[in-house]
Amino acid sequence: MNWPDWLPLKSNLKTLSPYGAPQVPAKIRINTNENPNGPSPEIAIQIAARIKEIAANLNRYPDRDAIALRNKLADYLGNNLTQENIWAANGSNEILQSIFLAFGSGSALGFTPSYSMHPLIANVVGVNWINGERRDDFTLDTELVIAEIAKVRPTLVFITTPNNPTGDSVSISNLEKIAAAAKQVDALLVVDEAYAEFSDEPSAVTLIPKYPNILVSRTMSKAFAFAGVRLGYLAADSIVIDALQLVRLPYHLGSLTQAAAEVALDFKSELLATVAEIINQRKLVANELEALGLNVLPSSANFLLFGGFNANAKIVWEKLLNAGVLIRDVGLPGYLRVTIGTAAENKDFLNALKVVLKS
Ligand SMILES: *Cc1c(COP(=O)(O)O)cnc(C)c1O
Repeated sequence: MNWPDWLPLKSNLKTLSPYGAPQVPAKIRINTNENPNGPSPEIAIQIAARIKEIAANLNRYPDRDAIALRNKLADYLGNNLTQENIWAANGSNEILQSIFLAFGSGSALGFTPSYSMHPLIANVVGVNWINGERRDDFTLDTELVIAEIAKVRPTLVFITTPNNPTGDSVSISNLEKIAAAAKQVDALLVVDEAYAEFSDEPSAVTLIPKYPNILVSRTMSKAFAFAGVRLGYLAADSIVIDALQLVRLPYHLGSLTQAAAEVALDFKSELLATVAEIINQRKLVANELEALGLNVLPSSANFLLFGGFNANAKIVWEKLLNAGVLIRDVGLPGYLRVTIGTAAENKDFLNALKVVLKS
């Protein structure tokens, strides 16, 4: 984009583009790692009832500290956490932005390919971002991570597990080693666990008592099937939560959002019941892709990264879209990412892909 001279846009923003997957009409949308199952009619009714109740008080500002919601989130995470260990915001992206606003000085270190919002927010807030590397198979090399932390001496280290877009997860013992290395240089370790519910690894929240420099970012957008509400949250030492309050905007989390999320947490077992089926479907889709001769990366999330097709990824992506199936070109040459949908959606995707690969 060529910005006009009269616009005093910050120089660090001039080369950026707004982040976002294409929101284009398609019969099957399996591109942004949403849960394909909407809330049941019963849960929808409960949410509507609660919203009706509070609608009469919308002249009032919301609970600025979202105490009731944070209590429920602490309950959900267990591990003796209380609301003092929890912060909540409009999606985990706002959580990540607040972390940068409060703690972003010096450099931030991450390991690509990973969630591209981490470097993007760093850029927006003017924090120097350093890209560490992964192995050729995209898995994380703990020794290399530790060496990079010692070399770069960042203030913030980002680890996404399970990682987006590759799907691999970091074991809790390796995370502990990384947290220890971060502690040595007084860095905070931000663990982005947007897909934690799809993985068998214990959550990094279990490490917080021993490593108060660990910040665990979570979201209701993926497993919880609640992407439309925008609710992300952070689990951390209470001192970290206190510091984040310095950068939060007053009343940032609306009453409607808080209420809807509270109801969802009351129905957590119903909402999370779809996770097992999604994992099942993930295995089926991975097997089918492999049967097509494709290379599928092992995934502990609700998506698969696959490659090995003898065609340009962009062209495969476009042909699939023309066939009514929207998946994600994450900008990794030779690879595409597909979100696990319903059984019917997955079948349609696989059938469309077979046709595209033959064409
Ligand atoms: C989807 C995603 C998020 C963003 O979640 P929101 O809560 O919807 O803002 C954060 N981190 C990763 C790695 C994601 O894939």
